[in-house]
Amino acid sequence: MVENNELRKAGLKVTLPRVKILQMLDNAEHRHMSAEDVYKALMEAGEDVGLATVYRVLTQFEAAGLVVRHNFDGGHAVFELADSGHHDHMVCVDSGEVIEFFDAEIEKRQQSVAKSKGWVVQDHSMALYGQCAQCAAQQRNK
Ligand SMILES: [Zn+2]
Repeated sequence: MVENNELRKAGLKVTLPRVKILQMLDNAEHRHMSAEDVYKALMEAGEDVGLATVYRVLTQFEAAGLVVRHNFDGGHAVFELADSGHHDHMVCVDSGEVIEFFDAEIEKRQQSVAKSKGWVVQDHSMALYGQCAQCAAQQRNK
């Protein structure tokens, strides 16, 4: 199984909860999930993994570099697989929906702003907060 190899490569022992949670993250419709989201999805799939275990495993995955944790304002921490390159996020303050974007122009501007101050950037994270297309449309129709 792909998940078993991913776990071993990350230096983690293959256990059933780890495999189930990694499968869930691999196949989830939403790339960004809170521990509660993962727990609920596992329950719906008939998997018997407790919330405490989900928290523990996600923390282990984070330490092993398998997932990235984001602490967006006003919400729970969400986790995503660390399998994609750099990107930024938009967070819907109504539905909690999280989407990703990448804009080469923004990336370049950040570099040149830093450079103008004599700084060297190692990393950045950017999140835009607002309403997703669906919530914005709903509000317009009220
Ligand atoms: Zn992301």
